[in-house]
Amino acid sequence: MHARKSKAQKAIAAAQNKMQRLGLSPGRSGNISVRWKDGMLITASGILPEDFDAETDIVFVDGTGKTALGAKAPSSEWRFHLAIYAARLDADAVVHCHSRFATALACANLPIPAFHYMVAKALGPDIPLAPYATYGTLELAGYAAAALAERNACLLANHGQIAIGASLEDAVELAEEVEVLAAQYVTVRMLGEPVLLPAEEMALVAERFKSYGKAANRPAMTAPKPKAPPRKR
Ligand SMILES: [Zn+2]
Repeated sequence: MHARKSKAQKAIAAAQNKMQRLGLSPGRSGNISVRWKDGMLITASGILPEDFDAETDIVFVDGTGKTALGAKAPSSEWRFHLAIYAARLDADAVVHCHSRFATALACANLPIPAFHYMVAKALGPDIPLAPYATYGTLELAGYAAAALAERNACLLANHGQIAIGASLEDAVELAEEVEVLAAQYVTVRMLGEPVLLPAEEMALVAERFKSYGKAANRPAMTAPKPKAPPRKR
């Protein structure tokens, strides 16, 4: 076994575990991939999490969609995974799941607007909704890749969510964040119309998130004087 490949398999198995633990992928739903050579390594179709075996249940799909002879069938959603890698050269991992609140919003055909600054984690002012198409189709692959052209996460109408990242850890963390935001957004809507943040503010926060955690990019501490809040009239 190629050392790098077994490392990638371990990462996928760990991601699978984490998503299970977080309750993001009920039943057989959810699939995970990482960019690999000219294609990707992706979880096999219809595997129950408790039966998951990193040796046999992770399948290589090449850039043209072919799998090795005798290998298990890849996840039925392999087409959108491949379409996303083709469209987003900066993405090295894709996770898809039917997490509860993200799926609820997707089934109401509601994208997630700028109701909270954390929405910018997906790199824009909203988490868009890709139109509905039958699962596993090239049509759905096209919709998903288009929704993710300028975002790292999207909802799929009447289906679920997709999160992508430069690493599998990033993608899983974002999928978790999308689910948290979806739950918060559903709650806010129960209280009435959410107050949305302006586009400029979301652009500023998205820019900050890009450098978050990168020590070299952190601004020097100058202890600025806090501004008083605007006075209410
Ligand atoms: Zn699905």
